[in-house]
Amino acid sequence: MKDCIFCSIVNEADKHVWENDVAVAIKDLYPRAKVHVLLMPRQHIRNLDHLEDAELAGKLLISVREVAQQLHLKDNWRLRVNNGQSVGQTVDHLHFHI
Ligand code: 5GP
Ligand code: ZN
Repeated sequence: MKDCIFCSIVNEADKHVWENDVAVAIKDLYPRAKVHVLLMPRQHIRNLDHLEDAELAGKLLISVREVAQQLHLKDNWRLRVNNGQSVGQTVDHLHFHI
């Protein structure tokens, strides 16, 4: 989608720390933890309220786990999603904070 920063980043492979056919992961620009990565679908989806494809939803969740494994976070990591502006979603392209 035009004017979406994360849609642009999806096309900038040098910024990806992990990727598969449906999602990419990048380092958060302003990390709030020792490891702070964002996983996002390649496809522009505004947030979880707009995620209709159950197969994609499942793949995204498995992708989150794969990223955590690749980062060697073992059993010591948190998943966060800000869903909507009033709870802190600042980028309107679905992303999972790991
Ligand atoms: P939100 O507040 O929408 O849940 O999370 C957006 C996150 O994206 C924030 O943690 C912010 O630091 C990060 N962010 C915003 N713009 C960029 C960017 O251009 N590059 C990267 N790597 N992270 C960004
Ligand atoms: Zn987008």
